[in-house]
Amino acid sequence: MNKEDILYWLREKDEHKLNKLWNMADSVRKQFVGDEVHLRGLIEISNYCKKNCLYCGIRVYNTKLTRYRMRDDEILECVKFARKNGYGTIVIQSGEDTYFSRDEIAELIIKIKKHADVAITLSLGECDEQSLKIWKEAGANRYLLRFETSDEELFERIHTAKQSKSLERRIRQIEELKRLGYEAGSGIMIGIPYQTYESLANDILLFKKLDIDMIGIGPYIPHPETPLGREFIKDYKNDEERFVPNTEIMTYKVIALTRIICPDTNIPATTALATINTREGRILGLKRGANVIMPNLTPPKYKKLYEIYPGKSSADDEPEVIHQNVLKVIEQAGRRVGKGMGNRREL
Ligand code: SF4
Repeated sequence: MNKEDILYWLREKDEHKLNKLWNMADSVRKQFVGDEVHLRGLIEISNYCKKNCLYCGIRVYNTKLTRYRMRDDEILECVKFARKNGYGTIVIQSGEDTYFSRDEIAELIIKIKKHADVAITLSLGECDEQSLKIWKEAGANRYLLRFETSDEELFERIHTAKQSKSLERRIRQIEELKRLGYEAGSGIMIGIPYQTYESLANDILLFKKLDIDMIGIGPYIPHPETPLGREFIKDYKNDEERFVPNTEIMTYKVIALTRIICPDTNIPATTALATINTREGRILGLKRGANVIMPNLTPPKYKKLYEIYPGKSSADDEPEVIHQNVLKVIEQAGRRVGKGMGNRREL
């Protein structure tokens, strides 16, 4: 499928024709990654962040947010739950929190590995090469770093970092991850204000070029305590002919196209999808190309404070409830829970 084809599908509105896209994506998914749905237990260890991304609810200038950091024993409780329920991966996520030293993160990785035979994914934002090396040696297997958009102008518009080449820096880190032997995850938001169809098609092609191992695709959900969210809610009237809407259907289209273009990659049915369609967002995600779910194991008292966007699905639910719901989703999608770590390649 070339860029013209991607653009055609991104603009297609006919439901019958779109069924062809869903079927294509589902059959590629079945052929390349099978029927297993891999569970990655997400633990949001801190909602402190030094950055000020204009779309993000935990940005440093959101002074209304109560901040937290989880203690090691609390994190290990979550790990215990994941181990008991056979999860193959733990995802350690936080804002760019300078409180944790490089060595403290390394120690945490070692402790988790002692407690459970799981792959460890880190999602701690941009960092230096030395940290990545040390964490890899400590046992980290994967790293998630979303580039959000491949369009430099749009990237600059939604981030305040005035340093030039900030998108380039992020892409360089993704390439560095691959060189260091990590599985590299990335992702984008669908329907950021002024996102063009052309730039979205380029995003999908960039996933392919970078050979991304896990690709998170979620709709842009405006947060009222952010500059971009306020502008979106108050003033933004999307011209759908020119700019991509932040809709559920557009998100499925990008999931399906990404599956077809990057057939053997891992694609989660994201929490953002479950947030805009609680009843069947994840089920449809799984039926249209996704093969991973990331159940959020963060204790509810913290989870509701990790509010990148508002109304996050299952924010008040305990891990056990979330786990049971995820099992139901997998069953309803006609799939089965994955065994092992669900690596894309040998780690
Ligand atoms: S998107 Fe990430 S880096 Fe940016 S403010 Fe939010 S948590 Fe921090």
